[in-house]
Amino acid sequence: MLADDAQRRVRIGMVTDLHYADKPPAGSLHHRETLTKIAEAGEQFQKDKPDFVVELGDLIDAADSVEVEKKYLARINKEISALPGDKHYVLGNHCVATLTKGEFLEGVGQKKPNYSFDMGGFHFVVLDACFRGDGAPYGRDNFKWNDANIPEEQVNWLRADLKAATGKTIVFAHQRLDVKNDYGVKNAEQVRKVLEDSGKVLAVFQGHSHKNDLKDIGGIHYCTLVAMVEGSGAENNGFSLMDVFEGGTIRLAGFRKQAKYEWKT
Ligand SMILES: [Zn+2]
Repeated sequence: MLADDAQRRVRIGMVTDLHYADKPPAGSLHHRETLTKIAEAGEQFQKDKPDFVVELGDLIDAADSVEVEKKYLARINKEISALPGDKHYVLGNHCVATLTKGEFLEGVGQKKPNYSFDMGGFHFVVLDACFRGDGAPYGRDNFKWNDANIPEEQVNWLRADLKAATGKTIVFAHQRLDVKNDYGVKNAEQVRKVLEDSGKVLAVFQGHSHKNDLKDIGGIHYCTLVAMVEGSGAENNGFSLMDVFEGGTIRLAGFRKQAKYEWKT
């Protein structure tokens, strides 16, 4: 039996890896088509009215100059801003290929790269893995894409944040916490231990590798969402709406290329 709609506590819209840029396609990445794809997601979200929308990183793709990149960001953020509900942005490596973190955050009107909030009796955490192995924050292409790390200071913040959390928790990250390959956060194992030890985390939603994937580790679902930028035409779009129910059941409605899931408690 599906969880009862009357038991629904939070509805969340999710999009990831939009890579918007006013430039021709590169391989399978159709940067300009993101505008029509986000419009389709917008129509769906206007119907289903999520409480908030999470953009899981790589909102933009590189430009030749900071000025042009700021224009790309303003253009795509006009679409994101028009979506219903609050907006939350996870930093992706491509967000800070041309810009600094400060410039990106200013462009989307968000104060911090990592933070947490509560809604409907649940706790939500936004992580920032855009740090090099030597601890330097990404910015202006000063990094290798496969050197993603969550520094000790943020790990300690996460531990304390989860300890203080009063509700079951859902985490959002761009780079993956469930793999050891190039797409994974280098200290993912350390971060997973913090999530597991809290006993509060239901699921982690990620982007970065552009393909649907799911791994269950230590009682937590690590769900990787499909990239919006991949492929040409509406049939290659991908976005999702997630319902979280009293008790912690999660139902993810996937649209177009996005896989669907339901995890019952
Ligand atoms: Zn991407």
